[in-house]
Amino acid sequence: MIMIAINIKSKTYPAKGRAGQHLAIANFKLAVNANEFVCLVGPSGCGKTTLLNIVAGLDRDYDGEINVGEVQTQPKIGYVFQNPRLLPWRTVKENIELAIEDNASSENIDALLEVMQLAQFQHVYPESLSLGMSRRVAIIRAFANNPDVLLMDEPFVSLDAPTARQVRGLLINLWQQRPHTVLFVTHDLREAITLADRIVFLSSAPMQVIREIKVSIARSDRDNEQVIEAFRQQLLHDQPELK
Ligand code: ADP
Ligand code: MG
Repeated sequence: MIMIAINIKSKTYPAKGRAGQHLAIANFKLAVNANEFVCLVGPSGCGKTTLLNIVAGLDRDYDGEINVGEVQTQPKIGYVFQNPRLLPWRTVKENIELAIEDNASSENIDALLEVMQLAQFQHVYPESLSLGMSRRVAIIRAFANNPDVLLMDEPFVSLDAPTARQVRGLLINLWQQRPHTVLFVTHDLREAITLADRIVFLSSAPMQVIREIKVSIARSDRDNEQVIEAFRQQLLHDQPELK
C-alpha cells in the first residue's frame, strides 16, 4: 500500500536579491510504501526541508498534489525538525506532553522515555541536556502521538559519531517496535545506508529524483560498519555520478 504519494509540479520562492522566482522543485514524483523507511540524500540547499514542509502540510504554496494515507482517514504525522526546538522553561517530560494530543497516554510517554534511555532525565530542564539527549527528546515528542508517518530533517547532524550511532540504533528499535512510514533527510550516505530500505538521491535546484536504490543489507547487519562501508564503496563504484 502506498502511504505517501508526492507529485509536485512546481514550488517556487521569490528570488533572493533579484526580481523573479527561484524554482526550487520541479516535476517531483515519489511514492513511499506503508512502513517503508526512505532516506532522501541530496546536497545542501537542494530543497529537502522545503519538501518535508510540503508533505507535513506546513507549506501549501506549491503547484501539485500530496496524498498521505487513505483519503478517508486522517493520518497522523510526526515531524522531527533539524533543531530540537525544546522550550527552555519546561522539563523534558513537559516538553513532550505539550506536543501530544489529549488521547495520548502518559504510559506511552513513559515507555518512550525508557526506550530512548531518558527516564531518569524526565524532570530535567533542556539546558542540562547534551545535544544527543535533546535530539532524543525531539524524537520522543514526534513519536508520542503514534504517528503513521514520521518526517525527520537531518535529525542527527552535529552529533559526535558514537552518539549518532547510539541514537540511530534507538530510532531503529522504535521503528521496529512500532512500524510506521519514515521520510528521513540526510546528506550522509553512510547514515542513509545504515537506516534505509530505499535511498532516493536528489539533484540541486530544481530538485528532482536522480536515482533510487534499495538497500539490500539485512537489518541484523546494519550496525556492522564494514558492511556499510563495503556497500557504499560498491555503490559509488557502480554509480560514480552519485559522489
Ligand atoms: P535543503 O533543506 O535541501 O538544504 P531548502 O529546502 O531549505 O534546502 O531550500 C531549497 C532552496 O530554496 C534554497 O535555494 C533556499 O535558499 C531556498 N529557500 C528556502 N526557503 C526559502 C524562503 N523562505 N524564501 C526564499 N527562498 C527559500
Ligand atoms: Mg534543510
